Amino acid sequence: MFLYDVAIIGAGPSGLLCARNAARRGLSVALVDSHDRPGVKLSLAGGGRGNFTNRTITEAHYLTDAPDVVRTVLRAFPCERVLDLLRELCLPFEERDFGQIFGLRPAAFLADRLAVQCDDERVDFYLGCTARGFSLPASSPSFGRSGEEAAFSFAAGEERVSARRLVLAGGSPAFPAAGSSDSLTRLAASWGHDVEPFRPVLVPLVMPGDWPLSGLEGISLNVRAGLRKNGQDIRPDPAGIRSLLFTHRGVSGPAVLVASCWWQSGDELVLDFLPELPVLELLNEKEHGRLLVRNLLSRYMPARLADALCPEDLARRKCAELGKKDRQRLADAVHRFRCRPSGTEGLKKAEAAAGGVRLSGLTRRLESRKVPGLYFCGEMLNVTGLLGGYNIHWALASGELVSSALAGERAPRR
Ligand SMILES: Cc1cc2nc3c(=O)[nH]c(=O)nc-3n(C[C@H](O)[C@H](O)[C@H](O)COP(=O)(O)OP(=O)(O)OC[C@H]3O[C@@H](n4cnc5c(N)ncnc54)[C@H](O)[C@@H]3O)c2cc1C
Repeated sequence: MFLYDVAIIGAGPSGLLCARNAARRGLSVALVDSHDRPGVKLSLAGGGRGNFTNRTITEAHYLTDAPDVVRTVLRAFPCERVLDLLRELCLPFEERDFGQIFGLRPAAFLADRLAVQCDDERVDFYLGCTARGFSLPASSPSFGRSGEEAAFSFAAGEERVSARRLVLAGGSPAFPAAGSSDSLTRLAASWGHDVEPFRPVLVPLVMPGDWPLSGLEGISLNVRAGLRKNGQDIRPDPAGIRSLLFTHRGVSGPAVLVASCWWQSGDELVLDFLPELPVLELLNEKEHGRLLVRNLLSRYMPARLADALCPEDLARRKCAELGKKDRQRLADAVHRFRCRPSGTEGLKKAEAAAGGVRLSGLTRRLESRKVPGLYFCGEMLNVTGLLGGYNIHWALASGELVSSALAGERAPRR
């Protein structure tokens, strides 16, 4: 049986870049994926166009147990490296708001082009094959069965693949319609790695049936979203103001997807519906004095939302008639609207899953401390980006880091 230098499980962005770059560094590579084409989840990214990276990218844009490691990886692989890759693949791109870089062709183009380059570098593809039945090299401390195995091996379809090194790039269980699973993360846990349980993030929030803003589905506007946890307000989103969309079951849109990264059961969502126009100032403007309160609000937000937000006893009063307390009540209703979601739409609709293999059990080159020769990259690691191209960026950055480690290159400096 042929012994590969490296076998990579998962042909998402992390596995593809890792495979291409390892092969370019002279290694023989097997790349395995359950799907019969590479990059299935990637092809859904950014509404089909792919938000591949971001002009501003730091460890603060990630949830992880090891921000210092993430910082090192990102410094060695900044936004410009992804842009160079897109140029090399002839994939035109544009910059949108918040520094987001989107492709100008279907997102699947990135996976297709990387797969062609892998092919050019003689990577052997095992597509439509779920890797299972793994065995570890005999040299792995406490794991190798006594015997002759000198390599990792596993079944891929009808064949048995053997390799000196193994890279797990199996992604997360988010968005199962893309065939996602946590099977490789469970495998890593069974080999003694610390795993943070997965939870859905970048996901719409569901509201209880009786919440006061029901029936507004389809309305979208810019808000500032925060959370109230254990009686304390937090505004975790570094970007501040983003859009919110009312859905049939609750709220979605970028502001909510980002807030969902920190939301836990019991937390309240705190929304500022006029983040750039203080209501107290609007009330003070002379020309507004004769307006009814609801009419003032509906100048600056959709009328149905204004009606739902405005305390009933104030709606039909003139602005000039409001005393100090009522003004503050109105300002709180608009700027500090609080509601307690009943849950999220779950992994089924999540763009990512926080959790995964903790970096604390890995070297700075993302090699296992438990099983030498075993590496991890991409979303199956406990590194989850916020909205804005951060997850694909991480997949590519960690894939490149692992390929350089496989070739014996030194870890990037801190
Ligand atoms: C709808 C949607 C939109 C998104 N949009 C964006 C965006 O615009 N920007 C952004 O940064 N991120 C986005 N993401 C997240 C991003 O797509 C992922 O973070 C990224 O694809 C992760 O790359 P990966 O290589 O780690 O894993 P994946 O792309 O998930 O690839 C892992 C691969 O491993 C394979 N696999 C797993 N187990 C096995 C096994 N046992 N045997 C064989 N194969 C196996 C799977 O089939 C899969 O193809 C989006 C996600 C979704 C769901």
